[in-house]
Amino acid sequence: MPELPEVETVLSGLKQFMTDQKILEAKIFTKKIRNLVPKNMAKTLENKGVVGLYRRAKYIVIDLENNHSMILHLGMSGVMKTYLKDGKKFEKDRHDHLWLKMEDGNEIVFRDPRRFGVLDLLPTGEVSSSKYFSHLGLEPLSNEFSVKKLRAILSSRKVAIKQAIMDQKIVVGVGNIYASEALFKSGIDPRRAAYSLSLEEATLLVRNIKSILRLAIKNGGSTLRDYRNIGGERGYFQMHFSVYDREGRPCPDCTCNIEKTGGVKRIVQGNRSTFYCESKQR
Ligand SMILES: [Zn+2]
Repeated sequence: MPELPEVETVLSGLKQFMTDQKILEAKIFTKKIRNLVPKNMAKTLENKGVVGLYRRAKYIVIDLENNHSMILHLGMSGVMKTYLKDGKKFEKDRHDHLWLKMEDGNEIVFRDPRRFGVLDLLPTGEVSSSKYFSHLGLEPLSNEFSVKKLRAILSSRKVAIKQAIMDQKIVVGVGNIYASEALFKSGIDPRRAAYSLSLEEATLLVRNIKSILRLAIKNGGSTLRDYRNIGGERGYFQMHFSVYDREGRPCPDCTCNIEKTGGVKRIVQGNRSTFYCESKQR
């Protein structure tokens, strides 16, 4: 499933194809994926200039000059494919839901076999209060995700810190892998009550969440050479993990006695696997 860094990578690819360009033609091949696709969508997109593209949580928002915004979510299996004007010709696949022809002749296709994605159109002024975004918490890479704000939110939460940082209402886009890794780097036991973090620990955690996501974005970006298929299974699978999926193995620079501790532990929290080092995370 694409996580925040993968979506950021897809976004940077789309920017290259769409920024300051007009959508000449649009075709919708689908009535319903996760949402009902608006009937007038293709018409509303055609002959409209793209005035901005950004990411919010795992959604991509494309603002048009007619004060409408396209909302895209890759779901479990979505990819954005591009067909260069002088390259391979587009042949519709049954999993294709959207086709766009841009002003410069390049084409963009949204393909989602498992149909958990979103393809919607909203008035630009209603995007932030829409059902997609109204409940979402802080953007982890923005300045609003600060130690002060996070501590204020966590001060009343008894839930385990691992589950708190994966709660989209608190902070968006910290997936299971990144949560385990950030807590390891911060030396925080994932089972700790969220409110119990000290100022120092919260500072480390905010810093490490940001740096791990940035590193993952950088990795996703650097492995993305072929923009004909924006997205796909790159990104975090190529990252080196400290604890994630390393049950029973030593953690990096391990000083713990692995014979005694059994190495990295795996537990289940909120139906998700958590990996941590018992001696380094307190
Ligand atoms: Zn260890």
